Amino acid sequence: MSDSLSLPTLPVAGQQPAGPVLGIDLGTTNTLVAVWQDGAPRVLSDPSGEALIPSIASFPADAPPVAGRNALDRARLDPERTIHSAKRLLGKGLADLEQERRLLPFRLVEAEGRERVEIDLGDGRRVSPVEVSAQVLAEARRLAAGALGCDPAELERAVITVPAYFDDAQRQATREAARLAGLEVLRILNEPTAAALAYGLDRRGAGRVLVYDLGGGTFDASLLQLDEGVYRVLATAGDTYLGGDDFDRALSDLVADDLERRIGRRPQELDPAARTALRFAAERCKKELSAAEEADFVFHDPAAGLAFRATIGRDRFEAAIRPLVERTIERCRQVLRDAGVEPADLDQVVLVGGSTRVPLVRRQVEEAFGRPPADAIDPDRVVALGAAAQAGVLAGQSDGMLLLDVTPLSLGIETMGGAVSKLILRNTPVPARAVEGFTTFVDGQTAVKLHIVQGEREMAADCRSLGEMILRGIPPMPAGLPKIAVEFTIDADGLLRVRAREERSGAAAEIELRPKHGLTDSEVENMLKSAWDHAQEDMDRRRSADLHTQLQTVIRSVEKNADVVRRELAEAARSRLEEALEDAREAGPEDPPDRLKGLLDELEEAAYPLAEALMNRVAAEAVAKRRLDEVLDNGKGV
Ligand code: AMP
Repeated sequence: MSDSLSLPTLPVAGQQPAGPVLGIDLGTTNTLVAVWQDGAPRVLSDPSGEALIPSIASFPADAPPVAGRNALDRARLDPERTIHSAKRLLGKGLADLEQERRLLPFRLVEAEGRERVEIDLGDGRRVSPVEVSAQVLAEARRLAAGALGCDPAELERAVITVPAYFDDAQRQATREAARLAGLEVLRILNEPTAAALAYGLDRRGAGRVLVYDLGGGTFDASLLQLDEGVYRVLATAGDTYLGGDDFDRALSDLVADDLERRIGRRPQELDPAARTALRFAAERCKKELSAAEEADFVFHDPAAGLAFRATIGRDRFEAAIRPLVERTIERCRQVLRDAGVEPADLDQVVLVGGSTRVPLVRRQVEEAFGRPPADAIDPDRVVALGAAAQAGVLAGQSDGMLLLDVTPLSLGIETMGGAVSKLILRNTPVPARAVEGFTTFVDGQTAVKLHIVQGEREMAADCRSLGEMILRGIPPMPAGLPKIAVEFTIDADGLLRVRAREERSGAAAEIELRPKHGLTDSEVENMLKSAWDHAQEDMDRRRSADLHTQLQTVIRSVEKNADVVRRELAEAARSRLEEALEDAREAGPEDPPDRLKGLLDELEEAAYPLAEALMNRVAAEAVAKRRLDEVLDNGKGV
């Protein structure tokens, strides 16, 4: 098979259906949805201006499920069927969740036949964490439709963020939840990467970025490295039970003695409703302390006849939470140690999560890493804004292609003689699409084998074989006549789809492959290095393969016209051609390119008289035909 025509490689982005792509920060506690609009990312809110969607779904016994703010109210009424924190459960089995199990007010059970957890709603029904997340995502989609003034059905595509440490099962579960909510996921994006994108750090060339993410219930530290426009996660560490909730608890503990003295009970002796009220009081006071040197801790529960007020200074609060903050700094140091990076080598530290508003947190981070952290963007919104920035690129709305994820190695197919025709080159941003035309090499060929390979080497045998497919059903035609369009498309997750179609007959075949599967970074590096090391040798082999293929084509066409050679060529021309043909037949694809080039030149030159004879024949036939036509025309005229 040899190339017959080739078309340029086109990014798919501009060809996708119109309509915004949603950027969704699917959080443990709250979810935010944003879009790219008028050249900037924007977080969307409901008609009352509220952007936070509580990540909660409720499944009433006698009504359809509700999610978000509507489900929040149901938490008190119907706690068994109102599910929060589903993100902690995604992609997990019961055995993974010993710690969570004790803290959650609903019942976790093992799903039948699958090592996945489900929630028993207590009325004979069960829901999976995927279904709960799907309800939250559907709510995000509804809110977005309301804010954008369109039908939810018009919002079909999304970028969804997940923690960097999420494994394949957790990412897959997130994707499934989106599908249930009617959303196609164009990209699962790491939360720290989204934060770096929101700050445009990729454009500013910030190479090493530490993302410090302290939310309500979790802490994550991630170290990112920017390589040729692509953020890679070098290391992560965290604590799935450390966050603002612990600050609230520390603050409640500060007033515990006072509380006991005044109302005769310690926090843990209060009933659940009063405990919730106390938690809210602590959170309110904590937030005020982020802006003021002192704040009132005001707790009252009229139903229980309780009222309490105390003034707390920021220094007391800071002393109480210092050990917690130090734990987060230690985790960050761990991340740097794991990656062998010194604090001085960091280009930027980015703050994410509502709890980074606490002044002590900022001070400690600045002290530990010797620079003020990036904090200009609302730390609650930065991930959603980054997701929208990425969505803008994927929707083709934002100009300036962000090289976020690229093909690590070139992808192509094996052509005649064992050479590789590369359709998608290494470092092409995904999603990507390329089409190239091929044809048959042998007369009457009815099937073509396509061998799909990955790598930088010139010969297929030196590349990584990804798979094969056979295109059958091509009607017998002379070599070179069939038009076979081979199309490679890679989606944003790196899934490669290869389609081949013979245009005259419509014969088609298709295969799906996962190119990156099973390749580690060091394997990719080795493949690149071997391509470098063998560059000259590879180029020679490729040239040899191509020249040998061309030689075969000329040999065949001479052989096809053997009778013309015999009858019409002069003795000298004939014997030169026969000699050249003889030498050419002996050549192999492993011969050095210079020898093959010499043989090809000689054969083409020796075949020149044959070409002339054939042309004369064609011309003579045309003249004869014209004469005949004239005779016939004249005849008609009579
Ligand atoms: P997130 O999970 O990122 O939404 O973070 C929520 C946490 O941030 C909760 O524990 C909030 O109490 C906390 N938070 C939000 N605003 C502030 C503030 N101004 N000062 C201190 N903590 C805050």
